[in-house]
Amino acid sequence: MDKIFLSPPHMSGKEQEYIKNVFDSNYITSLGEYVNKFEDITKTTTKAKNALALINGTAAIHLALRVLGVGEGDVVLTSSFTFIGSVSSILYQKATPVFIDSNENWNICPNLVEDAIKKYKPKALILTHLYGQMAHIEEIVTICRKAGVYVIEDAAESLGATLNGKHSGTFGDFGVFSFNGNKILTTSGGGMLVSDNEKWIQEAKFLSTQAKEDHIWYEHETYGYNYRMSNVLAAIGLAQMEVLEDRVFKKRQIFSWYQEFLEGNITFMPEIANSKGNRWLTTLTFEDKNIFDVIDVLNKNGIESRPLWKPMHMQPVFKSSERIVNGVSEKLFQKGICLPSGTVLEKEDVKRIANLINNI
Ligand SMILES: *Cc1c(COP(=O)(O)O)cnc(C)c1O
Repeated sequence: MDKIFLSPPHMSGKEQEYIKNVFDSNYITSLGEYVNKFEDITKTTTKAKNALALINGTAAIHLALRVLGVGEGDVVLTSSFTFIGSVSSILYQKATPVFIDSNENWNICPNLVEDAIKKYKPKALILTHLYGQMAHIEEIVTICRKAGVYVIEDAAESLGATLNGKHSGTFGDFGVFSFNGNKILTTSGGGMLVSDNEKWIQEAKFLSTQAKEDHIWYEHETYGYNYRMSNVLAAIGLAQMEVLEDRVFKKRQIFSWYQEFLEGNITFMPEIANSKGNRWLTTLTFEDKNIFDVIDVLNKNGIESRPLWKPMHMQPVFKSSERIVNGVSEKLFQKGICLPSGTVLEKEDVKRIANLINNI
């Protein structure tokens, strides 16, 4: 039987046609109509006012911090329970991360954010919508606006997720999507920065293409980055965005199949009131099973699974960083796993995976 991966790429079928158009035009680098088309479909889908296609999500977060003027001596609050791509650009900017724990919904805890703002006087906050489920973004934006703290939404995992009908990534000052190979959509590697502030996106675009001033020769008043997406990858991105709704539907269906078939003392990642997550990965905790036994049994059957993200405040690289923790993410890391959630899975696959787990 073929190996089952956590979240493999799933092409729509249109990608090669669009790529062929790009090759026929010879605009294969970062200038070209598919970059514009990919940005436009992202805007119409998410209702973000401005969008910038980039080489990956990490670069998008980095540009957001740079545009907001976050630098040495500034504190940036961030979800501790996340992937390092969410936070490493705080270090690129020589700013200081402070890690905030989760609440019972697994995402960053608004009460702890409030405490941290009083204690640390941060310049910005990076919030992750973990595993595709919405964080308490409305409360947190309200708290941050009052305190003059910028909000960057790491929606790398949550493209297509909504709260009160509004898309993840469009609540804060900036939103970031990722099109890495394991995300709900992929361009093989890619990212998107969105914001309602047109000036900021213009500035990010300028910085993403080496900060070239408007001259026939190369003139630089500041330094930038080589972060812009190529037209070839944007062609893949357009074809992928066209099927976002189907992919969210299928991810949620896979989640419901796990709910149907898995037995025993388990808790799935919750979905907060009035929200609809994209269920990028089905994630859960076991009360009475050792996750490493589960991972081992699945692995012997050619099925990939993984522990949940190891919280950033537990990572050696951040051992001397400040944190406000309550034990929630540490417990989730001990007891939780991610199950295969690729949109190519059939109900029978999920049943087989669930049966293997039920028999442990
Ligand atoms: C994937 C991911 C990123 C990074 O995105 P890349 O496109 O891989 O750079 C950032 N944050 C989270 C939460 C992610 O899952």
